[in-house]
Amino acid sequence: MIQIPKATHDEMVAHAKGVYPQEACGFLVGKDGLAKYFLPIENMDHSTVTYTMDPRQQLKAFKRISGDGLELLGIFHSHVASAADPSQTDRQMAFYPEVSYLIVSLADMNRPDLKSFRIAGDHVTAEEIRVI
Ligand SMILES: [Zn+2]
Repeated sequence: MIQIPKATHDEMVAHAKGVYPQEACGFLVGKDGLAKYFLPIENMDHSTVTYTMDPRQQLKAFKRISGDGLELLGIFHSHVASAADPSQTDRQMAFYPEVSYLIVSLADMNRPDLKSFRIAGDHVTAEEIRVI
């Protein structure tokens, strides 16, 4: 289970809506399964179907996360037209089994659907999100 404060949840969704119709991406940061903040990262693909995180922004993010004594809890991205389920590419690019993969679907803009998964190879497990 991953616990996300309402304000942080809303920030992730707002960021995804803000870069729509491109896919959004970023890091969810926290400790022991409790999120503390969200760091948006630029999608260098500027694509509606893929994302590649800007490596310089990733490096900056990792410095801040370790400086704050926190951990990378989740890798977040959006799906602008499909369900919030990991695509084949998402599964192939999921190299961190200890990190949550969060996907928000904006297929229905009025009802953003956020889901979380653990991905290890071909093994995808849904993870409960508790918005607190
Ligand atoms: Zn995806």
